[in-house]
Formats: sequence, C-alpha cells, structure tokens
Amino acid sequence: MYALINARIYDYQNYLENGFIVFDKLIHSTGSMVDYVNKGYEEIDCSGKLIIPGFVSGHTHLYSTFARGMNIDFNPKNFLEILEQLWWKLDHFLDKELIYTSSLMGALEQLSFGTTTLIDHHASAYIEGSLDLIKKALIDDLNLRAVMAFEISDRFNVEKAISENLNYINNNHNHSTSGLMGLHASLSLSAESLEKIEKALNNQGIHIHVAESIMDEEDCEKKYGMRVLERLEKYHLLNDKALLVHCTHINELEMDIIKKYHATIAVNVTSNLNNAVGISQIKKFLDKGIRVISGNDGLIPSQAIEYLNIFYLGHLKQKSPIGFSLDDLKKIILNTYEYTNKLLGTNLGKIEKGSEADLLAVNFNPYTPVNKDNIFGHLFYGVYPGFKPEMIFANGKLLMKDYQFINDYSKLYAAARLEAQRLWDIIKKEGNEIEFKY
Ligand SMILES: [Zn+2]
Repeated sequence: MYALINARIYDYQNYLENGFIVFDKLIHSTGSMVDYVNKGYEEIDCSGKLIIPGFVSGHTHLYSTFARGMNIDFNPKNFLEILEQLWWKLDHFLDKELIYTSSLMGALEQLSFGTTTLIDHHASAYIEGSLDLIKKALIDDLNLRAVMAFEISDRFNVEKAISENLNYINNNHNHSTSGLMGLHASLSLSAESLEKIEKALNNQGIHIHVAESIMDEEDCEKKYGMRVLERLEKYHLLNDKALLVHCTHINELEMDIIKKYHATIAVNVTSNLNNAVGISQIKKFLDKGIRVISGNDGLIPSQAIEYLNIFYLGHLKQKSPIGFSLDDLKKIILNTYEYTNKLLGTNLGKIEKGSEADLLAVNFNPYTPVNKDNIFGHLFYGVYPGFKPEMIFANGKLLMKDYQFINDYSKLYAAARLEAQRLWDIIKKEGNEIEFKY
C-alpha cells in the first residue's frame, strides 16, 4: 500500500496544508501529518507537491488521434464541410488495428496531461466490436476508466450501430467502464433512425452532439419544424443520464427542456473556437441549474487548457471581466466528477476514505500565501497554464514518476506512426470517392 506524505492535498472542496494519503485501489485514509503513522506503507515524500484528483474528459473522440499532421485537401466553408472533408473521411477508413492504436495513443497522451477517465464518442465504418477494441486499449492496457458510446448516424448501418451500443452497455457496468447510447447529431439522423433508437433505448443515457453549429438547428427547423431539443424530446431520448454536447446554439426553450429532464451539457470551448461555430452560453446554463461538464472534443489533450479557456471565454461571452467566476469554473469541474460518478458508480474527484485512488502530483511552490480559500486560484493561475503531472496514479497503480511513464511505450509510438501513415495513404487514395448519405 502507498502512502503519499508531507503533501498539500486539494480536491476542489477540501484543502490540507501538510497531509498524507494512504491507498491501494481505494483511499484507505487521509489526514494531517500529525496523525500519520507508517504501518509498513511504501512512502513517497511529496514535499513541495500538490496532490489533486485525476481529470475527467467529459467528451472526447479518440478516433480522431491520427488526424494530427495529416495533409489532405481541406477548404471548408462551413461546419458540415469540416465533417465531410476531414472527419467523415477519416472515420470511414478506421479498421480494427487503427481503432485500437489510435485509442491507445490518444488516451496515453491525455493521461500524460493528467486525464485518468475519458467519456469517449467513437465513430468508424468498422462497427461491430469497435467499442471493445477501445476498452482493451484504455481499461486493459492503460488501467484507465472510460465511458464508451458509438455515434449512430445515417452514414452507417443504423441497426448495427444501435447493437454495438447496446452490447457495450449491457456487458459493461462497473467502476472502470460503462456505456451510453451514442448518436452523432440531429442533422445526421432521420426520423426512421430516431424511431429505432427510441425503441432500443430502454432508459439508457444518450451521448449526442447538439447544436454545435447553427446548421444543426437550421436543419432541424427546416426538415421537422422544431428545435433540436424538441426533436430529442419527441422521441423520448432525454433523461438524467443524457449527455448533450456543445449546445452552442440552443435557445431558452431548449434550456428549459434540458432542465426538465436533468440532462447534462458537455462544453468543449476550444473546439468551438477552432471550428468557428460560436461560444455556448455557459454562465446561463449554470445559472439555470443545468449540470455543465467539460470535455475536449478530441482536440486538446489537456483538460487544464480547457479549464483556462472556459474561464477566459466566459468573460468574453459575458462581456465582463467578472462575468464568469472561478467558482463557476469549479462548479463545472465538480459537475464533471459528479456526472461521471453517476455513470460508473464511483466516488471520483474526492480525496477521502473510500474514493478511487486516481491521483496526480504536481510541483507546487507558491510565492504568495496559500490557504483553503484561495487554493483554487493558485491552481488556476499558477498550475493549470503549464500543467504536467510529475506523478500519476490510476486505480492505485503508479503510471508516471518524475514525468516519465513507468512502462516503456517507445515501441508503441514507432508502430503508431506506421499505422497513421497507412491511414493517411488510404484516405489520400480513396477518400474522394466516398459518397455521403444522411
Ligand atoms: Zn464531439
């Protein structure tokens, strides 16, 4: 059993100036050093370090990992063309090996920035068994936690995609992994598809992009005469497990629908900036009492960067330098743990007896006084901007020490580069021949 000693410890609710944590898979005890007794634990001195819980990425796309550095014709004029020219070409060619390798490398990179739990939204023309390949990479091989979903869309065989989600949901429900019913977005799902999903859902939660760009709302109003949230409500797809991603362009009526069903919004502000689709009304969501969580949309491997961007963009959106507070951001971080705990039956995000030992240690040497009231400010302004954990534990297992992974992954990186090149070559050769139907 490990004992982290002489540490500053903070879990977004409680702060300990000089404390200890004793744990294996779960935290057995924690408290002030004056109460610490070594009962044969493997001690790690954490003087000059701050211990915080591992991050959760509330919405990510590990399948997008091999897009980095890819050179294809890319000249989108709107959001749909971003999908057509890039993402729908890439996911079309993902086979078994590519799904496994891109998940492994993407998760490994997010782990290196402190993310120990991921809520993934997967898409590939290879459907059956795809979620188990990601599970092998994340749960079996990296010792992380993950919530999986396959993005059902009219581009794929809808029955097969529904089955893939159901199989995963029914066979995986433990503290390491569970499933949601993945849907791509309203604009890529016909009435027939939504009817099939409605029949299959059986009170499970959906995981869907909502009004990421204005085109999703325009498509819905033009084809169905209603807003996206009204459409999801019509097919009885909303409940307290539903994860609605982005919600950049939803209106007041749709916020009320989300609130009515106690559904959750995952915001991904850096991705929204990148795609130039707009900025969500995050402050308004929070003020209405909607649970808002933070994801990275597969773009930013570091949750700390997302947290920074949520805060600063909050000011811009509110047109006020105090329009979005650190408490607002902290609420989103706490919400992210709370929602994940609901899906996994865990107590992530808390450093207390009985919680899972997913822990990060960062160097911390503040030059202004630190106390329980300002520790989050120290974390935000002093630690998040260059966030790299020095030590990582997931499930009580030491995965990184002195900024180095305990396992040697160098061969994996070399193999991944070959796999990525293989994907790029196929896309270059055959990518322009795909016909999109949706
Ligand atoms: Zn997404």
